[in-house]
Amino acid sequence: MAKDPVCGMEVDEKKAAATATHEGKTYHFCAAGCKKSFEKNPQKYLGSHGGHAGH
Ligand SMILES: [Zn+2]
Repeated sequence: MAKDPVCGMEVDEKKAAATATHEGKTYHFCAAGCKKSFEKNPQKYLGSHGGHAGH
């Protein structure tokens, strides 16, 4: 199982509704909408431990 970085849901790689590749890593999503959100702003979902970048 993979983890949907947007909503935090466990997603079966074989049944993922959508996938996206970011910086060489493949991410799986439970829905196309989650992928859209991820592609809009990947840092928001991946940079939870990178500190604040500011707006
Ligand atoms: Zn999701």
